Amino acid sequence: MHCTKAFAFVGICAVVSGLAGCGLSPPATPHVVLTPNQPTIQEPTTSTTWPAGRIMFFETDPVSCSQDHTVQYRWSWGDGTYSRSGDGTREWLYIESWYHTYSTPGEYAVKVMARCARDHSVTSPWSDPLVVTIEEAEDPPPTDWVVVGRWKGTGSRTTETFYVEAREWRVKWSLRDTEPGRDFDPWVSIRIRDSEDRRVDSVMSDDLWGVSYVHHGPGRYFLRITGGIYTEWEVTAEVRRSD
Ligand SMILES: [Zn+2]
Repeated sequence: MHCTKAFAFVGICAVVSGLAGCGLSPPATPHVVLTPNQPTIQEPTTSTTWPAGRIMFFETDPVSCSQDHTVQYRWSWGDGTYSRSGDGTREWLYIESWYHTYSTPGEYAVKVMARCARDHSVTSPWSDPLVVTIEEAEDPPPTDWVVVGRWKGTGSRTTETFYVEAREWRVKWSLRDTEPGRDFDPWVSIRIRDSEDRRVDSVMSDDLWGVSYVHHGPGRYFLRITGGIYTEWEVTAEVRRSD
């Protein structure tokens, strides 16, 4: 570690020595965290106009701490709320992407900031805002659903294929923290593929349980499920019961 700092200092000296020279005692390395970029909406949809009640997934590029410590991120959703960990206890998160669901139509400015996970007083300014437009909520989703696949586990798994007859179906997930007290948020990402292994949709958990609707016609599908560290996930695929 000291070697690294020494080399870095030599490098800085080499750059500035022509102008100001270099003293014998190097200045302390400034401890700063860079400002994250303006947030973006994560694929597969990049539109910034969404109905209320739908999960929106935002991301920014990772930033670093000048002393190479781990960095945490905090989101301001513009509606008076901030990012929350899966168990709702923390606003600062270790990953540079997170979800939010708006409940009221309007325009909202989404911003993200970062801080050093070692020294929480070292924070970046807020990023430039991304303005999103929230419209009236869609009709309430139907409630009568049939499970066509259920999977439970940890880590990563590719499921067997399952058949969906309905035009609309959905993926539900629930998460359990297998090591409560560790500073990790349980999460799961679910990639929905068709039988030709083409991408249909993807889902990223924003909470300990949730549901995502898939509007992608009848056919055969399978899921690639990836869970976070200390996460036990349960995922179901469900189709709407036909009348
Ligand atoms: Zn740091």
